[in-house]
Amino acid sequence: MSELVSQIWTPQMQAAFTVVIVLLVVLYVLSIVWVVRDAYLRGASWYIWAIVALVPIVGVIAYCLLRPPMLRIDKDEQELEVALKQRELMKYGECATCGYPVQMDYVLCPNCHTQLKNLCSHCEKALEPAWTICPYCATPVGGVSKSRSTSSSRPRRRTHAERSHASSEA
Ligand SMILES: [Zn+2]
Ligand SMILES: [Zn+2]
Repeated sequence: MSELVSQIWTPQMQAAFTVVIVLLVVLYVLSIVWVVRDAYLRGASWYIWAIVALVPIVGVIAYCLLRPPMLRIDKDEQELEVALKQRELMKYGECATCGYPVQMDYVLCPNCHTQLKNLCSHCEKALEPAWTICPYCATPVGGVSKSRSTSSSRPRRRTHAERSHASSEA
């Protein structure tokens, strides 16, 4: 019997056996990684599934059968909806002084009468405070227009800080 074993259990057999064992271990580890990652992507409690996946073969099969539906897509959709709503809100915005909701093309806050936009001195269109030239009639901003900011008396270019300050005010 031992002779038979030693006949079969050659060094080549040992090597092949080792390779198979290593492959199985790698597959086992990869299956756990896959389960954890997949569960995480689906928004499931991945740590629970990680414990389940520790059971060789059965754990992975169980996960394949019971894995949660793609919750993550729903989440993304929700996030998209929230972003869209925020953009919708951006269209309106708030008065920097009193927080009253104002529309993009409002020149004055209807509540506290703060000037929100500059008016073009030539065509009287509402201009963003950050703009240095009227996009409608190409008149440079400043000078005659009744601007509320002190920088209107300055030449056209404003510094970045001023501009971001102005846009956060608008
Ligand atoms: Zn206001
Ligand atoms: Zn104009």
